[in-house]
Amino acid sequence: MPCVAISGFLTCWIKNGNYNTMYFRLDEYGYPYLLFSIVALFLWLEATAYYIHTMLHIPFFYKTLHKHHHRYLNQQLEVHEIN
Ligand SMILES: [Zn+2]
Repeated sequence: MPCVAISGFLTCWIKNGNYNTMYFRLDEYGYPYLLFSIVALFLWLEATAYYIHTMLHIPFFYKTLHKHHHRYLNQQLEVHEIN
């Protein structure tokens, strides 16, 4: 739920013309910047997912938060193995 609230807040923030780095016309920055943005976004998302997941394997976080995630994934894998 906090993610929904945060994304809604950011959407309103951008829609109301406050500071952001989004652009909607390609001629503002050109194709090289568009390609750079795509690669940079991909690398950023992969790196943050990796490091956040690694942090969630610290024993305290794993026991209190993350074990449920792995229990769910293991159940899905068992279903796939049966089928
Ligand atoms: Zn994990």
